[in-house]
Order: sequence, then structure tokens, then C-alpha cells
Amino acid sequence: MKYIFITGGVVSSLGKGLTSGGLGALLETRGIKVRIQKFDPYLNVDPGTMSPFQHGEVYVLDDGAETDLDLGHYERFTHGKLSRFNNLTSGQIYESVIQKERRGDYLGKTVQVIPHVTNEIKSRLYAAGEGVDVLITEIGGTVGDIEGLPFIEAMRQFSLEVGKENVLFIHVTLIPYLKAAGELKTKPSQQSVAKLREIGIQPDILVCRTEKPISADMRQKLSMFCNVEPNAVIEERDVEHSIYELPSALAHEGMDSLVVKKLGIDAKESDMSAWNTIVKRIIDPKSGTTNIAVVGKYIDLQDAYKSIYEALAHAGIGNDCRVSVKRVDSEDIEREGAEKYLKGIDGILIPGGFGDRGIEGKILAAKYARENKIPYLGICLGMQIAVIEFARNVAGLSRANSGEFDDGTQYPVISLLDEQKNITDKGATMRLGSYECELVDGTLAVKAYKEKRIRERHRHRYEFNNLFREKLEKAGLKISGVNPKRNLVEIVEIPENPWMVGVQFHPEFQSKPSQPHPLFCAFVGEALKRAKSSK
Ligand code: GLN
Repeated sequence: MKYIFITGGVVSSLGKGLTSGGLGALLETRGIKVRIQKFDPYLNVDPGTMSPFQHGEVYVLDDGAETDLDLGHYERFTHGKLSRFNNLTSGQIYESVIQKERRGDYLGKTVQVIPHVTNEIKSRLYAAGEGVDVLITEIGGTVGDIEGLPFIEAMRQFSLEVGKENVLFIHVTLIPYLKAAGELKTKPSQQSVAKLREIGIQPDILVCRTEKPISADMRQKLSMFCNVEPNAVIEERDVEHSIYELPSALAHEGMDSLVVKKLGIDAKESDMSAWNTIVKRIIDPKSGTTNIAVVGKYIDLQDAYKSIYEALAHAGIGNDCRVSVKRVDSEDIEREGAEKYLKGIDGILIPGGFGDRGIEGKILAAKYARENKIPYLGICLGMQIAVIEFARNVAGLSRANSGEFDDGTQYPVISLLDEQKNITDKGATMRLGSYECELVDGTLAVKAYKEKRIRERHRHRYEFNNLFREKLEKAGLKISGVNPKRNLVEIVEIPENPWMVGVQFHPEFQSKPSQPHPLFCAFVGEALKRAKSSK
């Protein structure tokens, strides 16, 4: 087993997650089996309770773990499926240490960060590597953060235990460009490497995030001050078109050869053909452009709907077209109506969400899609919105709503699941993870998936209320996917519009550039048809 640790220096949001994913992808092209995981130093047990303003999207795994969005990058870039053991937080570590202390497992000892907390961290490293050749572990945050120290210390101890020849430390750092001076600056990187060396870790590879090319002189300087071989100073420029250029960009810098050589792995040459095809289709699609509106309330945040934007890009690859996304704030629609923001749009997507802010704007967007026959994909909350809109405006159940937004409504067409009614804790208590769904013949869903039984990931408390099923079906709503064990409605279609589909689950979490999700592909395909016919 070989281990790679990825740390970050100078600032956060450097794209360590993408670098980890890109490196993982690159190693896979050489036939190496890779798993990527993340250690997050914050004290939350998981990001499930954090606001999108704090944290961006919460990425859900098959086993129902609510994890950091970087795990989404890992699953999109590489082939392995991840589990709850692949996103470790300080909150989980301390929870486990304190439980052990209460049980008396420490046999009267004083419980300390070293060795008890660091042992807990190391045990997760030993456990996570099974079945793979290389385990890549990204440490969240920036070197020098107080919370991060136990993780860095654990890495140091770990490399001593498994043998230094089996461990590689990669430090991702920023080389800022100072306009006034007209030059790139290496000092912040020198200092952040010095911080690592203070704890006893010498990075083997320096990945330099930069807007401008790094000159040979600069490489030499970084090499000398950071004590890294000149050929191990890797330039990582901002990619031009798409994050999926990253594996090739890293290959171009010789990253894979360097890693393979330093870790002593005997691997075949890399085969970049699959990634080259993906990138080619993104840069130069043959079938034109389609305009998709994503109607949400966190549209200014880069990361709040990360997997949705990625899945749309993948569906662009699948349809060999460009997907141009217009981010629409549902509160703007509330104030000024749907027409102003959605006119001329080829497809409307309403993503998941919580709380009543902006809800009526989303309902107006769904109405606009239904009436104007614009392809519509509603995801989780977006499915519930389509049902509420249909109930109100087609089935005549005026003021129908979800119990989440109006607990006194006469027509709670979306309601709390029974098992949710007595839950008081917020963390990890939703309906989470992968569940089976049976599709109904002759529906848009079965046409898209081309199979009858699917599995998709969930994250919600509310559900289609079966008490209204008959009434809504009579009014024309089509139920095209049901959870077979519990008879829960998972997919609805509104036939008045040729492609209006709402799904209670999150298909975006299973989409990859190499395997675009069938539902996103069908949706984008319909939007593309509309774009072409309206020309
Ligand atoms: N707020 C809704 C629920 O809890 C939808 C959740 C979501 O969109 N992820 O059911």
C-alpha cells in the first residue's frame, strides 16, 4: 500500500479537492487502483447541518453519509465508490475518543491529543486502504490552522510507522501575482512549507496554483527555499475551459511519472484517451448550445449546487452540446414574475432546498414550465414544487402546499414521513442514501433510464403524500417511479408538458463525465431539441 497526503498552504479554496481528484484520475489511467478521502479538521460531526453559505453543497454517498463536496469531485474523477469512512472530521474523532473514555477503554490514563486523538486518526488511515494500491488523503483547511494540527501530526507519525518510502506528501500552494510589482511571489509558499517542516513534514512535491507561468528561475527559487527537487515543483495553472482538463494538465507537467517514481510503483504508461475525448467534447461540441435555467436561492454561491452544475456539464458531453446555465434567483421571480427571467430558456431545473424562502418563486417557475411546455427537471424540492404547482393550478386544490412551508394547509400534498415526526435532532436524521425505485412502463423515466429498477441517493424529510395520490392521478399527474418496499412516490411526470419530470432523489450525485446520468441526458436532450426547433 502506498499513501499520498495532500495539504494546502497560504489560502483556502485553492482547489485541493480538484487536484486530489485530478491526480487520482491520472493514476487510474496508469492502471493503478486509487481511493481518495478527506479529513476535515472542523468540529462538526459532518457538514449535514452546515448552511450552504458556510460550506457549499452537502454531498451524499450511497450509504447515506452527508459529506464534504470534495467527495463529489473524487467520485466524478475516479471509479471507486466512497463510504462514510472516507470523510473524517475532528467532530467524529472527538466523539469517538470521548465515548471510549466514558466506557473506560483508556484504563485510567489521561486522555490526550497525542497519542489518543492521533491514534484515532491513524486507525482511519489503516482501515481505509483495503483493496486499493494508493490511498490519497486530502487534509482540509490550510497548514497552520489550529484545528488541523492533530491531523498533520498523525500524518507524520503514520509515515514513520508504514515506512517513509511508502508515503508521499504533496503540498498545494498559491503563487500570487502582484500586479503592482508585475511578478509572481514565492514568499507565502516558503512560509507555509516552513510551517509544515516545523511539525516534521517535508513535502515531496509542491503543486503551485498560479495564474501565470512559472519561470525556470522561479522554480529554482521555490526548490531551494522549500527544499523540494526542481522537477517536483509542479505548475498548476487555472484550466481554461473545464475542470476535466486537469488530469491532462497534470500529466503534461509530469505529475504521474513523478508520483510513480517517488513511490516506487511499477505501473504502465498512462492512457489519456478517455479524458481527451471528454475534454474535446466540452471544448468543441458538435450539436450546438442549449440554455438551461437553474432556479434556486443560492445562485450567487459557487458551490451550493455543485453537483447539479457538474451533472449538466456531463449531460452536455452526453449530447455533444454546450449547456449554458443561467442562474435565476427564485426571489426575483417572486418579485417580478417568471417571464422576465425564463423567456427564451430551453430547460428549467429546480434543485433541492430547505426552508420557505423563495418557494413561491419556484412554484411560479414550475407553472411557467408546465404552461409553456419547457422541459423541466425537478430534483427533490424541485419535485415537490412540481407536485404543489400541479395540485394548486391543475387539480384545483387551492393553497396546496408542503407541510414544510405551511403546516396548516388543507391540502398537504407533500408531508413529513411518519418516521420523521418524532425526530428532534437535526444531524444525520433525514431519509438518506441509496434506495431502490421501480419504474413504470411507458413513462419518460423508463425511457431515460432504459431499465426498470434503479437506485438513487436521497436526502429529505418530506415526501409525496399518498393520501392525495388518487386525486392527483385523476387530474392527470403520472407517477412513474415508486419505492417498492414502502410504496413511496419517487418520480412524477406531468404529461401536459412533453418533458416535465420531478424526482424525489438526487440523480446528480451519480453522474460522472465518463458516465453522464441518463435523466440529465434526457432532460438536456429535450432542451436541445427545443433550442433547435425555436431557431
Ligand atoms: N426540504 C425538502 C425535504 O426535506 C427537500 C429536501 C431537498 O431538496 N434535499 O423533503
